[in-house]
Amino acid sequence: MITSTSREDSFSTLRDQRPWDVLIIGGGASGLGAAVDAAARGYRTLLVEARDFASGTSMCSTKLIHGGVRYLRQGDIGMVRNALRERSYLLRNAPHLVHPLAFVIPAWNQIDRLMFAAGLKLYDLLSGWHNLAASRSLNRQEVLTALPGLKSAGLRGGIRYWDGQFDDARLAIALMRTATDLGATCLNYLPAIRLLKTDGRITGAVLRDAETGEEFEVTARAIINASGVHAESVRQLDDTKAQPLLTPSQGIHLVFDADFLPGQQALMIPKTEDGRVMFAIPWQGKVLLGTTDTPRPELCQLNDPQPLEEEIDFLLRTAAGILTRPPTRADIRSAFAGLRPLIHPEHSDARNTAALSREHAILVSPSGLITLAGGKWTTYRLMGEQVIDRAIAVAGLATVPCPTKTLKLHGATSGPLNDAYGTDAPVLATLPGRDQRLHPNMPYTEAMVRFAIQYEAARTIEDVLARRTRALFHDATAAGETIERIAGIIAEELNPSPERLATMVDAARECARRFGNA
Ligand SMILES: Cc1cc2nc3c(=O)[nH]c(=O)nc-3n(C[C@H](O)[C@H](O)[C@H](O)COP(=O)(O)OP(=O)(O)OC[C@H]3O[C@@H](n4cnc5c(N)ncnc54)[C@H](O)[C@@H]3O)c2cc1C
Repeated sequence: MITSTSREDSFSTLRDQRPWDVLIIGGGASGLGAAVDAAARGYRTLLVEARDFASGTSMCSTKLIHGGVRYLRQGDIGMVRNALRERSYLLRNAPHLVHPLAFVIPAWNQIDRLMFAAGLKLYDLLSGWHNLAASRSLNRQEVLTALPGLKSAGLRGGIRYWDGQFDDARLAIALMRTATDLGATCLNYLPAIRLLKTDGRITGAVLRDAETGEEFEVTARAIINASGVHAESVRQLDDTKAQPLLTPSQGIHLVFDADFLPGQQALMIPKTEDGRVMFAIPWQGKVLLGTTDTPRPELCQLNDPQPLEEEIDFLLRTAAGILTRPPTRADIRSAFAGLRPLIHPEHSDARNTAALSREHAILVSPSGLITLAGGKWTTYRLMGEQVIDRAIAVAGLATVPCPTKTLKLHGATSGPLNDAYGTDAPVLATLPGRDQRLHPNMPYTEAMVRFAIQYEAARTIEDVLARRTRALFHDATAAGETIERIAGIIAEELNPSPERLATMVDAARECARRFGNA
């Protein structure tokens, strides 16, 4: 099924004043997972996103669907087990967007080699029948064959294990479309700006269309705050004295051409100079290097965080220590930062953000606002299930069991297919411009831009470059060179005013500079 609901039709639904069962504020992994769950149980569901779907943390992940080997060290056994189970559901329910990936951990001494092998056997055991393949010790030559770009001096061997890799923003769009297929209304560029209360209970919200300024009052039986690192500001719309719940931690990634780490297997360094994990991962024809874990409690501007100089230096220095061809600043094709919405230390005994739990929390305020915070992309489905269970209890909705463990996501094919469009591919093939590449160095076509606008709710050039295609993440300079062409297609498809189109072009140029400015 391919659903294409116009933005104007969705606004008419808002104007008809019928109460919603569930209103979700925030269109990242957490909110979209909740929307799919609520709609799949048959509740009348509205999701609103202030900017674009997945434009916050959810487009900036390491793109792994994983149990989290490093969380074993922190003793988070329950979280690792849950995440491994979720990994297996997702591989089954979205085979067009998630696939298994081999990771190799090199060892430069025998003690490390034995320790990693033991840790990964525990990982295998926790996976149970969800395991993708058993971990295995590798000799020195096998490691060098798997990771041709790795320095060989002093290498003793290594371990190979398996996890999942995905396209985060495309998965977010697939979730939005799954929720829409199931009857939900999902709108981007529509922030919740006020909460409505009756007799001290939250009953609705005021939403403002970011494009026209029009405001809508909507009522809902359950209201879920899934606004990521913005959770605080939404909680304060409810209660100006709400205590801090989150402490943001920044993580950055750098993108390089594939020849810095040729091959199809990822490199995992479990302990860098400051004790953090680092990955170098083959991703969509490039290599993704990351990440960092920098506490950013001082950040008051939570949109579009920037990589810090010291974070870039740290990743380049670590890569130079292990790769035969050390990447330099001039080799960086794209650099991006995301903020982890970690639960505040007051709710945890960790001393630094790397040690803070990646578990999620669900809080209900005295007025009934349900906040879903923390967590990981990998566990978005479980978080959705649990928050809707809580919404049923808080709002007295009719109990319906959660069906999402086996729910195929929009576009899911019957087997693995290396095409992010999945079952939509034939529709894409009918659109004009299917043979017209936007840029010779990138696989994206004009038809993909039209598809993004007609079926995937893209509203701006940046939406197309960052989240419908991943052009900005692959090569910010090349992405910048496509802006005029995309603007031309947007002009045909959406007919914006000349002023709006000019603002969009400027914003896209600024964005390309940000991604390319390492
Ligand atoms: C560097 C890094 C690497 C990571 N790697 C992985 C990984 O490999 N695997 C994994 O499983 N997890 C990973 N994570 C974690 C994962 O990315 C996050 O847990 C997840 O994306 C958080 O999603 P979210 O929906 O809670 O937040 P967000 O994605 O930030 O979404 C919140 C949304 O709410 C919107 N919003 C805010 N205020 C309002 C309002 N008033 N009205 C409407 N909307 C509003 C925002 O615009 C935003 O889009 C990583 C995180 C980081 C930072």
